[in-house]
Amino acid sequence: MQFPTPIAKLVEGFMRLPGIGPKTAERLAFFVLSMEEDDVMDFAKALVGAKRQLFYCSICHNITDRDPCAICDDKGRDQSVICVVQDPRDLIAMEKTREYSGLYHVLHGAISPMDGIGPEELHIPDLLKRLESDTVQELILATDPNIEGEATAMYISKLVKPFGLKVTRIAHGLPVGGDLEYADEVTLTKALEGRREM
Ligand SMILES: [Zn+2]
Repeated sequence: MQFPTPIAKLVEGFMRLPGIGPKTAERLAFFVLSMEEDDVMDFAKALVGAKRQLFYCSICHNITDRDPCAICDDKGRDQSVICVVQDPRDLIAMEKTREYSGLYHVLHGAISPMDGIGPEELHIPDLLKRLESDTVQELILATDPNIEGEATAMYISKLVKPFGLKVTRIAHGLPVGGDLEYADEVTLTKALEGRREM
């Protein structure tokens, strides 16, 4: 049976989302049909709003609706530490631990020769720029505990040697080959506490 075009389009839209197969897409589409029109409108507005109103912070490259972002702009945070993560979602995972009160730098990926991603594809040059000021004393490398994440941490730790900073790597407690954003808060807190100097 063919769905009427508006439903077929909705199913198609849901199927473009990660982890959504045809069955789930159909279930979601029919759920939307059963929703109140106001709720559907709010949802549609939230989708468009997230896309239109968000951009990347010019300092740390986190997702934000203002520049600099709320974290970079917060003078109450420890300005002497920068935690380097691969992804904005990793930053959110770190924030959820409530154990970290320093600044961040989001690389937007990791070095991966297999995928043709070199250091110049990542936000590494502007990280170096941030280190030129004397305020930063420690760099925490919180890239994923897999081959790409380790290679990236190693690369950055060598690169920043001339700055004479304390460079630490979170490791302890995180599953090898894992993804930082999926680590639970306790594991991530432990990993942060157990960071080792590089
Ligand atoms: Zn920022």
